[in-house]
Amino acid sequence: SYDLAGKRIWVAGHRGMVGGAVVRRLAEEECEVITAGREVVDLLDQRAVKDYMDKTRPDAVIIAAAKVGGILANDTHPVDFLYDNLMIEMNLIHAAHQADVERVLFLGSSCIYPKMAPQPIPEDSLLTGPLEPTNEWYAIAKIAGIKLCQAHRKQYGRDWISAMPTNLYGPGDNYDLKSSHVLPALLRKFHEAKLSGQKEVVVWGSGTPLREFLHCDDLADALVFLLKEYSGYEHINVGSGVEVTIRELAETIADVVGYEATLTFDSTKPDGTPRKLMDSGRLNAMGWNNVRSLKDGLRQTYDLFLRERV
Ligand code: GDP
Repeated sequence: SYDLAGKRIWVAGHRGMVGGAVVRRLAEEECEVITAGREVVDLLDQRAVKDYMDKTRPDAVIIAAAKVGGILANDTHPVDFLYDNLMIEMNLIHAAHQADVERVLFLGSSCIYPKMAPQPIPEDSLLTGPLEPTNEWYAIAKIAGIKLCQAHRKQYGRDWISAMPTNLYGPGDNYDLKSSHVLPALLRKFHEAKLSGQKEVVVWGSGTPLREFLHCDDLADALVFLLKEYSGYEHINVGSGVEVTIRELAETIADVVGYEATLTFDSTKPDGTPRKLMDSGRLNAMGWNNVRSLKDGLRQTYDLFLRERV
C-alpha cells in the first residue's frame, strides 16, 4: 500500500466540489497538500502546467480539475466539454510523467459508459457500445484520460490509477439552474417554491430515469482509500449502490426542504440515459463501503445551502 505520510499531493481542481472534498479529507492524513488556483496555473496551458509541476515536484497528483456540468450544459457547449477536458488531462498527465510523479489518481464519471451498458455497470463495459449523445463530449475526454494513465502504466510502469464516481452532490455544488445537475437544481427549485409559496415545481423530462447519487465527502474518502490501497490497470467505479427515479428524488427533496408542491414534468427537456447505476463491487471487495444515506446527505446539503444563501 502507498503511505501518504510525508507525501506532497497536488490536488488539481481544489475549488471544485470534488477537489474541495479531497482537500478536506486529506487534512486528516499526514501529507502536504498543494493547491493552485487558475491565476497561479492555467491548466489549459501546457507550459504553465509543466513549469508548476517542475517547481512543486509533487509525489502524487489527484486530477479533480475538469469542465463539468449537467445535461443541458453538456449538450449546448460540446467544444468546452471536449477540448477543455482533454487539454487539462493531457497537460497534467504529461507533466506528471516528466516530473516522475509516483501516483496519479485520475477522475472521470459514470457517463463514460455506453448508453446501453448492462446495469449495474461493471468497469469492463467501457467501450462496448455507443455513448449517451447528450454527454459524449465529456465522456470522450474522460475515456482518453483513463487511457493515457493506462498507457503510462504499460509503457513506463507508472503506478497511476483512475476512479469513476457516480453522480455527486454536496458542499460546493453548482446551483445555477441552467448548468447544474438535477439534485442541486431540484433542491434550489423546492427551496424557492417554499419561499414564494409557488404551488408547482418543474422537473425536466419524464421523471422516470434512474440515477445513483453519492455525497462528495464519501467519494473523497473512497479516493484516499484507493490512493493508498489500489494499484491496478483498470479504472474503479465509486458509487453508493442505491438508485432512485428522478420523481423519487424530487419527492425526497420536497420532504427534506419541507414543502409540498405539484410536480410538473417538462417533456421538452431531455431525459438522458434511462438508468446509470455503477457496479461498485470491486471497490467494496477491496474493503471500502462507507456511504451515508441519500436522506442524510440531502439534509446536510440543505442545511449548508440555507447557511450559505439565506
Ligand atoms: P445526467 O445524469 O448526466 O443525465 O445529468 P443531470 O443530473 O443534469 O440530469 C439527470 C436527470 O434529471 C435527467 O433526466 C434530467 O432531465 C432530470 N432533471 C429533472 N429536473 C432537472 C433539473 O432541474 N435540472 C437538471 N439538470 N436535470 C433535471
